[in-house]
Amino acid sequence: MEIERDPHGDEADRADYFIESVIDDHVKEAMRKCAEIPPGNPGSCDFCGEESGRLVAGACGFCRDRYKLP
Ligand SMILES: [Zn+2]
Repeated sequence: MEIERDPHGDEADRADYFIESVIDDHVKEAMRKCAEIPPGNPGSCDFCGEESGRLVAGACGFCRDRYKLP
């Protein structure tokens, strides 16, 4: 007698594999983006004082545009 495999079990396995591969892709994508972005640090902007996730030379993105900073 052949025992039928639980179809839900197979689906869960596939879902786990799918989720892991998606996470892996996201990590690789994040690492790739990090490699491209010039160095910057989170903190408060020297120019406007606003908190920014990424300051370059102490300036947030808005102030870099405003003051034509690199
Ligand atoms: Zn600023």
